[in-house]
Amino acid sequence: MAKMYYEKDCDLSWLKGKKIAIIGYGSQGHAHALNLKDSGCDVCVGLREGSKSWPAAEKAGLAVKTVPAAAQWADIVMILINDEVQAEVYNRDIAPYMTEGKALAFAHGFNIRYQQIVPPAGVDVFMAAPKGPGHTVRSTYVAGKGVPCLVAVEQDATGHAYQIALAYIAGIGGARAGVMETTFHDETETDLFGEQTVLCGGVVDLMRCGFEVLVEAGYEPENAYFECIHEMKLIIDLINKGGVAAMNFSISDTAEFGEYVSGPRVIPHEETKARMRAVLSDIQDGTFAGKWIAENKNGRTFFNSKRAQLKKHQMEIVGGELRRNMIWGGDSDLDTASN
Ligand code: NAD
Ligand code: MG
Repeated sequence: MAKMYYEKDCDLSWLKGKKIAIIGYGSQGHAHALNLKDSGCDVCVGLREGSKSWPAAEKAGLAVKTVPAAAQWADIVMILINDEVQAEVYNRDIAPYMTEGKALAFAHGFNIRYQQIVPPAGVDVFMAAPKGPGHTVRSTYVAGKGVPCLVAVEQDATGHAYQIALAYIAGIGGARAGVMETTFHDETETDLFGEQTVLCGGVVDLMRCGFEVLVEAGYEPENAYFECIHEMKLIIDLINKGGVAAMNFSISDTAEFGEYVSGPRVIPHEETKARMRAVLSDIQDGTFAGKWIAENKNGRTFFNSKRAQLKKHQMEIVGGELRRNMIWGGDSDLDTASN
């Protein structure tokens, strides 16, 4: 069983007198910075000179410095820029200031797990990783709640890394929802596995196959979109609320019977699990990480062509059309199909 912590286990006073730099002001960065500030912490945001986020962060009442200035100023440096640029920014702008007794923090373990960032021995290295998007980290905090978080300590140089990490998580509101202890190793590997096999890779390909089969059989694409893609959210919401039983309670018995009869026909368990194990093995031995690092060094040709290809897929075009005309419409900020 994973060890859990709650508010009573976290003591915000471990952050007293400590200066915290939040590097990056994206999804997670803005939420961590604002929540910590509202929790009474001494925060500044570290950004590139000329960054569009600079005036936004200042307008929100936050102090802003360049990345090296923020790293030099701070006792705790939380890195919340894109994972694939972290190593470069760390080595150039942060590493020179990681003096003994400071702490380096992350919200995802990739760069530590795959040794893209190798912090000096004298600093604490911890993870405070909300299990939700940054905008939810902010909105739940404002509502007096929080998003559950993972805590991990890779390096405990001061002997207080856990207390500091838990205090940090309390400061961003996560302790209100619960904190699960893990390691950089497990967080990175399970995160990559989940997104590749089930959440992003698995779900997108499952929906795409369903959509294509119906359209190729002559059914209307709009119909195929509703059945195989739009309804996914309704089903997931039910599972999220009360498990598979809650979904089965809400759907018809015909649908439930079909689930038992046809689910294993499209997802042959043993074969699918064997393929998932192969993906896991590539994650564990660094093959996937190596590919992703190389892809970024080589200008992302594969990545960009896949993204462009998907944008042109009929399911994306039909979905965009439908969402534009529906009152339940999509979030236009997120609707890349309509741009
Ligand atoms: P994001 O893309 O929303 O924001 C990244 C920010 O970094 C942007 O403001 C960008 O301008 C800035 N940036 C990019 N390159 C930079 C550079 N070279 N120098 C300075 N700033 C630069 O990213 P995010 O989703 O907030 O992710 C941040 C971290 O949080 C990652 O480690 C990610 O794995 C982790 N995380 C994200 C989520 C999530 O749901 N978004 C959840 C948990 C953990
Ligand atoms: Mg994840």
